[in-house]
Amino acid sequence: MPNPANRHSFSTRAIRAGHRRTNEGEQSEPIFATSSFVFDNAAQAAARFAYTEEGNVYSRFTNPTVRTFEERLASLEGGSSCVATASGMAAILTMCLGLLQAGDHVLASQSIFGATRLLFANILSRFGIEFDFVRLDDVDAWREGIRKQTKLLFLETPANPLTELGDITALAEVARSHDAWLVVDNCFCTPALQRPLDLGAHIVIHSATKYLDGQGRCVGGAVVGDKELVGEKVFSVLRSAGPSMSPFNAWVFLKGLETLELRMNAISENATKLAHWLTHQSAVKRVFYPGLVDHPQYDLACTQQSAPGGIVSFEVNGGRAAAWRIIDATELLSITANLGDVKSTITHPASTTHSRWTEEQRQSAGITDDLIRISVGLEDIADIQEDIRFED
Ligand SMILES: *Cc1c(COP(=O)(O)O)cnc(C)c1O
Repeated sequence: MPNPANRHSFSTRAIRAGHRRTNEGEQSEPIFATSSFVFDNAAQAAARFAYTEEGNVYSRFTNPTVRTFEERLASLEGGSSCVATASGMAAILTMCLGLLQAGDHVLASQSIFGATRLLFANILSRFGIEFDFVRLDDVDAWREGIRKQTKLLFLETPANPLTELGDITALAEVARSHDAWLVVDNCFCTPALQRPLDLGAHIVIHSATKYLDGQGRCVGGAVVGDKELVGEKVFSVLRSAGPSMSPFNAWVFLKGLETLELRMNAISENATKLAHWLTHQSAVKRVFYPGLVDHPQYDLACTQQSAPGGIVSFEVNGGRAAAWRIIDATELLSITANLGDVKSTITHPASTTHSRWTEEQRQSAGITDDLIRISVGLEDIADIQEDIRFED
């Protein structure tokens, strides 16, 4: 049944898409807390298993609450298929298992989420898939890194924690001219600020744990794309391997999507104010934020994203000791490596999210000991600023 909300604008779809009201007449989407589904008769059961009849079978791969979340997110990203998963990492794993085989080569940005790098370099590499890592912002390096076996290009933009950007349009072109797929982890922007599929990417990855939830409650993820890559190849892995999202988590994420655009725009406004304020503090050496005109890719940020997002990083004078002192002096901000919450969080990347990298890897990626990352939330900006104390 086509969903009438799909022809509407983004904010309407974020609230309405994917929900088919049941006979109970519910206003809010129901949580289908059931592991399996009942058939009218043996013939129907056979037809559902053979996929000749659409319908629910078993919640590892067909659950109506999860499906509502999948349809809503697919609609927001402009994809025709979505597979929801137990976590963001499960989304990346399921995507790789669906699209790759032994002998394939993956070219990835060197500025990807730490666990993604470990999944690629330490786990999937054991199964005959090869990985190389290149500078996110160097399109020539991507072009030169491609081999005959390259099946997939993988990046995040903006990247964590230094907010470098990847040029999605240019890299989609590179991928297409070599018969490879471009996969974009759209965690930092969400479809409210950036839509990679519209720019030519084949697949979008989400850690729903972050901004899609938006209030720090549940862990989840998603793969979005077209019917062939996601609806068939990635879905078949979900069905057989089972890294599934729970209906309760899907429901929480649905509620998150309803306010996504509002939050992302308000968070971007708060983060822009904080970034400007930080540039005026004498203890701050450098601020990393795509909304600042001196960001090296400010022009790209303006065309590729509708707003700069919520992640602001900065280097302080005094090295690691000074960075830790500032973090420890906060009373309002949460000291946690998580991000994408309406509660602002503060972290020291070199000793947390990037602590499993070698000193050399951190140096070459620019993750210095004096770097602090803030995921800006929705508290009053004056209170956030007051909480960041440069002198004791
Ligand atoms: C958190 C995160 C992930 C992993 O998501 P989980 O839900 O924690 O498994 C992947 N990519 C990015 C950019 C992230 O921030």
